[in-house]
Amino acid sequence: MTEIALLNVFVFFVGAAAASFLNVLVGGTGSIRQNLKRKRSRCDSCKMDLRWWELVPVVSWVVLRGRCSRCSSVIPVFHPLSEILLGIAFVLGYVSASSTAVALGYVGLIMVLYFFSVYDLFHGIVPRKLLFPLIAGAFLGRIVLAIAHAEWQMLVTGLIGALSGYAFFVILNFLSRKGVLPREKKSGESFGWGDANFALLIGLVLGWPLSFIALWIAVALGGLVGIVILLVVRQRGATMPFIPFLSVGTLVALVWGYAIMDWMRLYLSY
Ligand SMILES: [Zn+2]
Repeated sequence: MTEIALLNVFVFFVGAAAASFLNVLVGGTGSIRQNLKRKRSRCDSCKMDLRWWELVPVVSWVVLRGRCSRCSSVIPVFHPLSEILLGIAFVLGYVSASSTAVALGYVGLIMVLYFFSVYDLFHGIVPRKLLFPLIAGAFLGRIVLAIAHAEWQMLVTGLIGALSGYAFFVILNFLSRKGVLPREKKSGESFGWGDANFALLIGLVLGWPLSFIALWIAVALGGLVGIVILLVVRQRGATMPFIPFLSVGTLVALVWGYAIMDWMRLYLSY
């Protein structure tokens, strides 16, 4: 194996380990603070702490054939799948980063995206106490970057990205209240305001026009999955978490955004 391939395998396992840590943090029960205090991962059925060889991401699940070594209850396939997913996301971020500092930034962002996605998936909400400081931080980051590079455009593109993303959800919710778009029964809107707030963060981080690409990838993916769910479950008005789609859109825009724009320009000019 070449050195680069070995490095990618290492980055993959760092991502997979991050997933298993974040899964404990999001947890099924207990607050994030409580989950943080619980130092070791444990089996959900027999509550026994896992031993070191049961904690190796992906590998342990395969070796144990998806069952706890003590009580032999099934370990949900979500665990290895989520570890593989975040491992791949880490490698993608690492490979497309131009420097070590940028790579660390990408990895941090990917962890944030993952955390909010899994939280939305399990709890159906976006924790504001965590999201709002991140939005403020991203805004400050844009200001610092703009001053450091003496380029106000850096701040402007971030603001346009954030506000256009937020406006996008405002318009969609307006249309769903008017009955133009399908909507959730309880609120009468098609999206939660957590999604709109999350779009503020994405817009500030990616900046216009990458934020626009992220949004449309999210809508396209979400639409596809929504149609499949509608066909399989045949239940209208069911809620579907949207943060995972926004997160995938953000990662794709981050890694391939400019390539996608080049391709579109080429395609549209013929
Ligand atoms: Zn067990």
